[in-house]
Amino acid sequence: MLDIVIIGAGAAGLAAARRLQDKSASFRLLEAKPHIGGRVVTDSVTLGAPIDLGAHWLHSPALNPLTPLVDRYLFHVKQGAEDFRVARGSAILSGAEHDECFAYVEDCFGKIESIGGGEHDCPVAALFPFQGKWHDFFEANFIAKQGVPSDQASALDFARYVWEGDDWPVLDGFGALIARHAHGIPVELQTPAARIAWGGKAGVAVETPRGTIEARAAIIAVSTGVLASGAIRFAPSLPDWKQQAIDDLPLGSCNKVALAFTRNPFGDLDTVMLMPDLGAGPSVEFVVREGGRDIVTAMLNGPHAKALAAEGARATADYALTQLAAIFGNDVKACVTDRFVFADWDHDPWVGGCYAAARPGCHGARIELARPIESRLFFAGEAAHDRYMGDVHGAHLSGEAAAEAALSAVR
Ligand SMILES: Cc1cc2nc3c(=O)[nH]c(=O)nc-3n(C[C@H](O)[C@H](O)[C@H](O)COP(=O)(O)OP(=O)(O)OC[C@H]3O[C@@H](n4cnc5c(N)ncnc54)[C@H](O)[C@@H]3O)c2cc1C
Repeated sequence: MLDIVIIGAGAAGLAAARRLQDKSASFRLLEAKPHIGGRVVTDSVTLGAPIDLGAHWLHSPALNPLTPLVDRYLFHVKQGAEDFRVARGSAILSGAEHDECFAYVEDCFGKIESIGGGEHDCPVAALFPFQGKWHDFFEANFIAKQGVPSDQASALDFARYVWEGDDWPVLDGFGALIARHAHGIPVELQTPAARIAWGGKAGVAVETPRGTIEARAAIIAVSTGVLASGAIRFAPSLPDWKQQAIDDLPLGSCNKVALAFTRNPFGDLDTVMLMPDLGAGPSVEFVVREGGRDIVTAMLNGPHAKALAAEGARATADYALTQLAAIFGNDVKACVTDRFVFADWDHDPWVGGCYAAARPGCHGARIELARPIESRLFFAGEAAHDRYMGDVHGAHLSGEAAAEAALSAVR
């Protein structure tokens, strides 16, 4: 009998497969989509330049186990601190106002961090009974990090996240890098797992439209959005504690639009992160002219972005362009091309959002999500890592850990 069947060829499933391959275990890797990568995937065709639809930055490169892949495969990153600017109306802040705004945001994140290691959880929002004039901007930053507003996020969970202080954009595409590293891993594309039977005397049986696969164990490396949607039926049902962990880790929202311009209407900005202060509600970040290309990628975050995405690609692209015009003037509309890239993760049935945010009071949920069931069902993915949650390297490490655990259970 096959040792292990892996469900989902995102960063977690691919890492699990590689580890099993290295240990000469027999496995099959099933992927619902026509391509690998899940939330780390690059579109290099639409705009003639690599656009990451999902993950783009190697977070914490000094700690990140994926950093060595950059040199190994001759990819390019931008090293050093990100050039981060704030726009208010048509002004890009500078001097004392810029510093004051950043100091406020950093203080707020510092306050969340300072409760790490404590026992008492609360919504992040409860840590800020008194709010300064930059609080809406902090909130927009928080939504950009978690995909949900601060009243919907566990403070202890957020405080556990480990970030070493740097982020490197992968200029040739983070998705392309992960895909390059996956060369040689056999993947069965367009093969969604529909039902997993695990109640028999031994092993699991995974039903797909292309037939049933029996194995000693399964590694389930799909998002909590997919698990919560019921797209995979379990027979018997998952135990209550596992279902609870899934429900406690809903996905937030972060969608992307990349716009191309016929020339540069952005002055001397080059490879800059720009976030407009839009007041309460919207959270939008622009990556302006990365690598000197006349392209802007907008990241639209939180409930506002989800509602916008429901209106469609054109509505989201128009919104991004309107916000850019508010900063740079109507010239941006004159030189925008009609080609754009749109990634709507909220309405992607094989993902269902961007990354998992633990609900307030649910800071233990990631450990429970990662806990195997009866040495047969193993769980992996960004949501199942309790230090690098939400990140590609968290998903990768959780996939490796699930592979090790599954292997020792079946051998
Ligand atoms: C817009 C955006 C920006 C981001 N930015 C960054 C960033 O800059 N840096 C960073 O480190 N992280 C970032 N992330 C997060 C990062 O992309 C994810 O944490 C990581 O890629 C998740 O990997 P995963 O393997 O856990 O899940 P997924 O990537 O969701 O992989 C799961 C796979 O399972 C497949 N699947 C689902 N259901 C089934 C089924 N029934 N049968 C078979 N296959 C199935 C899916 O198609 C998918 O390929 C970002 C995410 C988004 C959405």
